[in-house]
Amino acid sequence: MLFDTHAHYDDARFDEDRDALLSSMPAHNVGLILNPGCDVETSRKAISYAQKYPFVYAAVGIHPENINENWNNDLVVIKKMVEFEPRVRAIGEIGLDYYWEKDERARARQQVVFARQMELARELGKPVIVHDRDAHADCLETARRYKGVPGVFHCFAGSVEMARELLALGYHLSFTGVITFKNARRAIEVIREAPLDRLMVETDSPYMAPEPYRGRRNSSLYVHRMVETIAEIKGVAVEEVERITTENGKRLFDIC
Ligand SMILES: [Zn+2]
Repeated sequence: MLFDTHAHYDDARFDEDRDALLSSMPAHNVGLILNPGCDVETSRKAISYAQKYPFVYAAVGIHPENINENWNNDLVVIKKMVEFEPRVRAIGEIGLDYYWEKDERARARQQVVFARQMELARELGKPVIVHDRDAHADCLETARRYKGVPGVFHCFAGSVEMARELLALGYHLSFTGVITFKNARRAIEVIREAPLDRLMVETDSPYMAPEPYRGRRNSSLYVHRMVETIAEIKGVAVEEVERITTENGKRLFDIC
């Protein structure tokens, strides 16, 4: 049974067939899905899917690209969601995105909102789902500062050195369709070195469709491609990678 640990079914690209698609997942061996939120509205939607489907769980949080003027109030709402919705299993996705944000003041605000949500995770005893795009040094620094907060770096794109330090801090690393692309050299190095019991798979749907589906709308139906690719890189049976990555996700997100 596969666990897609990161998929955005709140995206408008699923408006046409969301229910049919989600309902079909168990028959395709996708037994668990975690839908992270990126702001209050998408977090609310993530919770609604988790309430509707027994195999869907939610994470709630403010993504670095979705910080608005009311972020302080939004955090109050996010905190309530974590406290009162049992199907919320993590705070995410949160983090830093310097690829889209070049302005120093806006970056500084991202750091504050990220730190506040790390504090929330510590206070509420939840793991975090970290988005790190072109902000490796600052994300690592925040992870160090909140040592002891469990979590995952999703769509991990850092170096082997960074991976080593995150693993030492207790983090999991999760991989998308990027690892199936021809130029994925760095991620492949990380996967080769990281212990299997710290790896997770995700689609990041509707983005990042793996080969040979690249360019299409992604969905959890393709998560097997990441399992197959990790199995190939590590020289381990596909069934073994499927079993262990699912167990890792269940352990991190406290799913029985
Ligand atoms: Zn995402």
